[in-house]
Amino acid sequence: MKIKKQEKKLIVPDCVTVPFIEGDGIGQEIMPVCRNIINYAVEKAYQGKRRIEWKEVLAGEKAFKTTGNWLPDETLAIFREYLIGLKGPLTTPVGGGIRSLNVALRQTLDLYVCLRPVRWFRGVASPLKEPQKVNMVIFRENTEDIYAGIEWQQGTPEAQKLLNFLKNEMKVTQIRFEKTSSFGIKPVSVEGTERLVRAAIEYALENHLPNVTLVHKGNIMKFTEGGFKRWGYELAEREFSKELKEGKLIVNDVIADAFLQNTLLTPENYSVIATLNLNGDYISDQLAAMVGGIGIAPGANINYKTGHAIFEATHGTAPDIVGRNSANPSSLILSSVMMLEYIGWKEAAGLITNAIEEAFIHGKATYDLARFMPEGKALGTMQFAETVMTIIENSPVS
Ligand code: ATP
Repeated sequence: MKIKKQEKKLIVPDCVTVPFIEGDGIGQEIMPVCRNIINYAVEKAYQGKRRIEWKEVLAGEKAFKTTGNWLPDETLAIFREYLIGLKGPLTTPVGGGIRSLNVALRQTLDLYVCLRPVRWFRGVASPLKEPQKVNMVIFRENTEDIYAGIEWQQGTPEAQKLLNFLKNEMKVTQIRFEKTSSFGIKPVSVEGTERLVRAAIEYALENHLPNVTLVHKGNIMKFTEGGFKRWGYELAEREFSKELKEGKLIVNDVIADAFLQNTLLTPENYSVIATLNLNGDYISDQLAAMVGGIGIAPGANINYKTGHAIFEATHGTAPDIVGRNSANPSSLILSSVMMLEYIGWKEAAGLITNAIEEAFIHGKATYDLARFMPEGKALGTMQFAETVMTIIENSPVS
């Protein structure tokens, strides 16, 4: 059965069909154990009253081998129809055509928020002294900025044409080495900023989080990043003035470089982060490293207007460890937890999150994490999944 979006709400049936892309490389190892854990937790939480019906759709190598197409139209149509989906890691196709499957999926469904929650799990080794102070949710703009891919390589007629235009018509004089410069364009719009900041503020209010911080480099890029800051504040004042006056939320801003420093020194000052595409890329990786790295960092790409959301493992296909039963399934599992929370199945989500933390506390983890834990005992992918299921089995539903 399909999820529907009505006004601002998702209408979720008790039996939800979730399309999934298994993924390349370690995707084949982590997706099956992930689905088992989700099914198990849903069964335990709702005793058969709710369930997920999984529907495999093709993308990546598996799609190319069977259909000759890296991203079949049918896959996009199914995601569009069913609103949500789960995605394993995908190889970037070599030799023309699609630049990146992930980007193609985001663009087709206009998934304008890249959502990355970052929290520390007890038991996981961290380079910070007090990792328990890290608890943030990053809203990274997903459709604009330098990622729009508008660039021209040095030495081409196109670069020369742009240079001539800049010099002759726009009277630009600051290009230091004209002949050998490549050029890139950074579009940042009012609409793009507003929908991202609105989503971040609504999330903070719904989850009773104290502040939304706009992270930007507006001191240097005054109209693009500076615009992001200004339009963000203006939107907050216009649409959320009541909540701001009542003290339900604080909206503030910080320059991106200072933010990266502050996240290491005073992470407790931040809860929801709203930022542009490129800043969001750097920030997501630094924050993930502060609490355990890419093996456990979950993520989703969401369009809060239409309701479309794809939850995904944030790491790549890890070709170096394929077939060794050593891949960490936690990133994909925690992304599925985000999916359960998104559809309001909070009890099942809670069971899984608590079970994963319980496993880590006892040093039970895959090799990538266990090797840094004082009492760490490296488990295979399957054994880690079994451990998590056993903990779920013995946990109360809350
Ligand atoms: P791709 O080309 O698909 O991006 P990659 O290997 O270049 O693959 P990642 O897959 O992100 O990039 O991997 C970077 C490193 O982290 C590799 O050494 C990989 O084995 C390791 N790694 C990534 N994901 C996991 C995981 N889920 N469990 C364990 N190790 C992982």
